[in-house]
Amino acid sequence: MSGLIRRSSCCDDVPETGTLKVDDARQRILDSIKPITASEKLTLRNALGRVLAEDIISPLDVPGHTNSAMDGYALAGKDLPQDSEQMIYKLIGSSFAGAPFSGHCEAGQCVRIMTGAVIPAGTDTVVMQEQVKTVESDSVRIGNGHRTGQNVRQAGEDIATGGTVLRASHILTPADLGILSSLGIGEVRVRRRPRVAFFSTGDELRSIGEALAEGDVYDSNRYSLYGMLQRLDVELLDMGVVRDSEEALRKAFAEAAAMADVVITSGGVSVGEADYIKPILEQTGEIHFWKIAMKPGRPLTHGRIGNSLFFGLPGNPVAVMVTFYQFVQPALKYLAGARSNPPWTIMATSKEDIFKRKGRYEFQRGILEQDAGGQLTVRKTGQQGSGILMSMSRANCFILLPEDCQGVSAGEEVQVQPFDSFI
Ligand code: AMP
Ligand code: MG
Repeated sequence: MSGLIRRSSCCDDVPETGTLKVDDARQRILDSIKPITASEKLTLRNALGRVLAEDIISPLDVPGHTNSAMDGYALAGKDLPQDSEQMIYKLIGSSFAGAPFSGHCEAGQCVRIMTGAVIPAGTDTVVMQEQVKTVESDSVRIGNGHRTGQNVRQAGEDIATGGTVLRASHILTPADLGILSSLGIGEVRVRRRPRVAFFSTGDELRSIGEALAEGDVYDSNRYSLYGMLQRLDVELLDMGVVRDSEEALRKAFAEAAAMADVVITSGGVSVGEADYIKPILEQTGEIHFWKIAMKPGRPLTHGRIGNSLFFGLPGNPVAVMVTFYQFVQPALKYLAGARSNPPWTIMATSKEDIFKRKGRYEFQRGILEQDAGGQLTVRKTGQQGSGILMSMSRANCFILLPEDCQGVSAGEEVQVQPFDSFI
């Protein structure tokens, strides 16, 4: 990203003063967290998406027996036809999945075999059915070009007895449920889920179903927060809307902190309003009011209320989502005891010029597309105001414009963070 697109305002290149960088803020948050260690035992189906609390050691070989990867004919590799030869083999029996052949296969003999069936004694190679000609009902002809060991799955080649299959802190996926069941493991120990309480603050906020007076807005933050939290493995406590009154806020903070590991609020942390909740929070915990060099999401409050982690997100609907994804989500994963892989990013060609002010990290909302040739391109979702939630709704990625970036020209590569990477 080079600095070709600059509007000539005298202020454009002035870094914001007294602000915290995005990466530093994220690190400070992570440094303040002790992961949950409490655990519970769950049956496999209930453990999907949960964080493993123990290493899983395989009690078995998988596959348990050397078996065929194809329907075909099993024979000894040293008995295969050489060079341009063809050979006729006597068919001495069959091996089915669940019904193995009990005899021994000698030179000049073969055994009909099905996928998954145990490889008969005396054989180590399978020739695919399609490559074999039946000569008589009890004999087949096999040509050359085969190799010893082909189409055979060795016992333990997927997982060996005593091997570590999954490590503690791993988040269980559908494939893991398959792996665990293939080992005969029906229950696993996982970490307790974080409990997250959240509420919106603001006298102008109305809940769905209420009438809107002049200046009122429906509370949307609680719904986007609900959506983002729902995709993580957390227990949710939705506490509704809390009025901008000292008494109501004090009560809500106390209630939330008594029930939850994490308290998330939106609104009330912008410069004017911060003064209002500051005294309440300072009495009950350790709170930092940060100005982060980012857009959107400049004001962020972080700290502790009692024993709970606290995030006071900005009120603007886009800022809520950006700060959640950039700060709260990694914090919740870390708290849950999961290995913290940062969301992945990719490079895409910008379809347009993107103006960017130096000195702050901008998270512009973009539409990432792939053209017929597989090339990735990205364009903005129009107006980028922090109150314009449609800019998030239309987007499928953030366009990442770090502090030093001075803008992007059409045709330049830019880093994007797909929304899918947060799930
Ligand atoms: P605040 O940070 O409380 O000053 O709020 C900044 C802006 O976001 C104001 O326009 C608020 O009306 C709006 N806002 C705050 N909370 C919400 C919410 N829960 N839903 C929708 N808009 C909100
Ligand atoms: Mg407010």
